[in-house]
Parts: sequence; structure tokens; C-alpha cells
Amino acid sequence: MSRGTLFILSGPSGVGKTTVEENIVGIEDIFVSISETTRAKRENEQDGLDYKFISTTEFQKRVSKECYLEWANVHGNFYGTPIESINQRIQKGLNALLVIDVQGTKQVRDKIPSSILIFLLPPTMDELRKRLVERSTDQESVIEKRLQKAREEITYSLIYDYSVVNHNITQATKDVVQIIRNCKSRRTHDK
Ligand code: 5GP
Repeated sequence: MSRGTLFILSGPSGVGKTTVEENIVGIEDIFVSISETTRAKRENEQDGLDYKFISTTEFQKRVSKECYLEWANVHGNFYGTPIESINQRIQKGLNALLVIDVQGTKQVRDKIPSSILIFLLPPTMDELRKRLVERSTDQESVIEKRLQKAREEITYSLIYDYSVVNHNITQATKDVVQIIRNCKSRRTHDK
């Protein structure tokens, strides 16, 4: 049986990755990996659905047992992609989508070079700040930290195969879906 494709979606905090991801799931037959994190759960989040929320001790234990395909410290919290569910699905020929940061992307790219890397960009930094403020899940100091990290992350967008600018969510979703479909059909033809 042929293996599925791993798609990675990255981009700075507040750029709209989660919304694009949710839209994609409604359109495409793709499995979305649920990450594990030590970050505190936000009010609008559900454990086991948005993330699996675990303690730092548990996370470190799982790192030492090599339970993660990749993991990283992002804004002072740990995040990791559980390896088992991904491996099982890819081996069955299913496609998977990971929404992870740049550090994690580099690890996955080294382990699975056939992964397709997509970076979601904000139209401008002012727009990104506006979206982070409107989301109002974070304090001002956290927003500043996220904007600083965004500037760094954007410089790494060149390691990605595709960049999509999120001027509006409908068009950005269409662009990402088109990339996924093109890659899938190219791989089917190559077989
Ligand atoms: P947030 O805390 O806003 O949900 O996510 C913060 C950042 O962590 C985002 O850039 C998100 O893509 C990234 N992230 C979420 N899950 C993972 C993961 O499993 N691994 C890595 N490396 N980054 C992740």
C-alpha cells in the first residue's frame, strides 16, 4: 500500500492557522494531528480536541520515551506531535496535517523529507498585531512576545515549499486546499 502524505501548516501566532485548519477538515479527507502541550488551557478550548493538555513532568517523560515525531518549546511552553497516530495513518495511506511551529517543522522535514511545508503569512505586521489584540486571549506582554517571535518565524518561511498570504480566510483556505490537492494528484500520477 502507498504511504500517505504529511502536510505541515505553520505561521505566526494569530495569523489564522486554526481557522484555516478547521475549514480544511470540512473540505478535505485529511487527518489532523492533536498535539500535546504543557500550556494552560484557554477558556474556549477542549482537552483532547484542541490539544491534549499535560504536565511538564508527563511531557518530559514522553520525550525521553521518544513518543514525539517532533517537539519544541514555544513561548515558554512545550508542544509535541505524538508519533504513533501519525505513523499508523501515514502507513495506511492516509494524509495528515500538522499545525506546528518552525522548530518542529525542521525536525519533521529532516525525518520525513517528502513532507509538504506550507507557511501562512499575515498581510502586514500591523494586521497581525490587530488580530492578536482582537483575539484578546493574551495579555499585552504576551502579545509583544508573540509579535517578536512572529518576526523571527517569518524569516524562516523560505524553508517552506509554499507561502500563502492570509488577506481573508476564505481565499487563504482555498489556496491551501489547492496546494494539498495539487500535491496529492501529483503523487498519484507519480506512482
Ligand atoms: P498556541 O499556544 O497559540 O495554540 O500555539 C502556539 C504555537 O505552537 C503555534 O505556532 C502552533 O502552531 C505551535 N504548535 C502547536 N502544536 C505544536 C506541536 O505539536 N509542535 C510544535 N512544534 N509546535 C506546535
